[in-house]
Amino acid sequence: MLHYGAKTIPDNGYYSMPKLYHNGLLLCGDSAGFLNPAKLKGVHLAIKSGIMAAEAVFEALKKDDYSAESLKVYKDKFDASWAKEELYKARNFHASFKDGLYMGMFHSGIQLLTGGKGLFDRRVNKRDHEYMLTIQDYERRFGYKPKKDPIKFDNKYLIDKLTDVYKSGTAHEEEQPSHLVIADYDICNNRCTEEYGNPCQHFCPAQVYEMVDDDNRPGQLKLQLTPSNCVHCKTCDIADPYQVIRWVTPQGGEGPNYTNM
Ligand code: SF4
Repeated sequence: MLHYGAKTIPDNGYYSMPKLYHNGLLLCGDSAGFLNPAKLKGVHLAIKSGIMAAEAVFEALKKDDYSAESLKVYKDKFDASWAKEELYKARNFHASFKDGLYMGMFHSGIQLLTGGKGLFDRRVNKRDHEYMLTIQDYERRFGYKPKKDPIKFDNKYLIDKLTDVYKSGTAHEEEQPSHLVIADYDICNNRCTEEYGNPCQHFCPAQVYEMVDDDNRPGQLKLQLTPSNCVHCKTCDIADPYQVIRWVTPQGGEGPNYTNM
């Protein structure tokens, strides 16, 4: 491994795109969901959105009008572009996999033949974290509890998380206020431990979340954070089952320092 990086992607497609313009604001690239979920590609769409936004801003500059009404031209450009056509064709792709891999392959095959519509259009999707199973539900569905064996890293094919952080060039000032805000530690240390087994310690790719012995409660664990490891992938903000974790921008633009990525 030469470099490491991690990032969540907005892969729910066209129907999850937010409103693209507001007063004095245009959303482009990932922030507006410009990603083709069928191809898992979005750089070309991000560039196109940047071009359309620049053209809209140029027209706004000429009129000296940055209101939503004036910036709506960005949306009009998108609606008339190949970017919209491409995203619209893949609009139902991600939702196809709601019932598993095989049903997803079946549905997405039919979508290819029907211009993206398939057997359903605009299937209702839950938020990502709402798909997470409790330990009890997991056992009910699969007949056994989730495995607890720790992963054995050989640092050849399976690289440990702290080496990953090092290879991402991540740096934060150790004493800065935590940019990961936990609204309720009580939920993490008690309810989440029992219901979900603290998934944050597994889905975080940077070993920011760890369950350590709680000196005040012998035999019990408590959540310990190391925000300086964070590679800014934003998984925790999205996947936390209780939505008590909030990722905020760290001070001074610190974070991963991606090179050649
Ligand atoms: Fe990603 Fe959250 Fe871990 Fe940072 S703390 S690396 S945003 S999962």
